[in-house]
Amino acid sequence: MRAMRNAFLDSPGFIPYDPPLMPNPKRKLAKSWRGSRRSHDHVHVPNLSLCTRCNQPKQAHRVCGTCGYYKGEMIVDMKKL
Ligand SMILES: [Zn+2]
Repeated sequence: MRAMRNAFLDSPGFIPYDPPLMPNPKRKLAKSWRGSRRSHDHVHVPNLSLCTRCNQPKQAHRVCGTCGYYKGEMIVDMKKL
């Protein structure tokens, strides 16, 4: 098997092939750059307001998770859930 491989490498039609390098960053990013980029990578606690119908905390511009109402209109029937 080894002899066959050497015969292939020595054949006149064989052209050695250098695989192209993978795309990589040109230079190392400094810690400060990395930190600046990651400064927004954090989980934030959503601001809560009180539901006008049931007075339970809910996210603004979203259906209330307790009563299923939004702007005085029933969106989700919580009794059926
Ligand atoms: Zn509610």
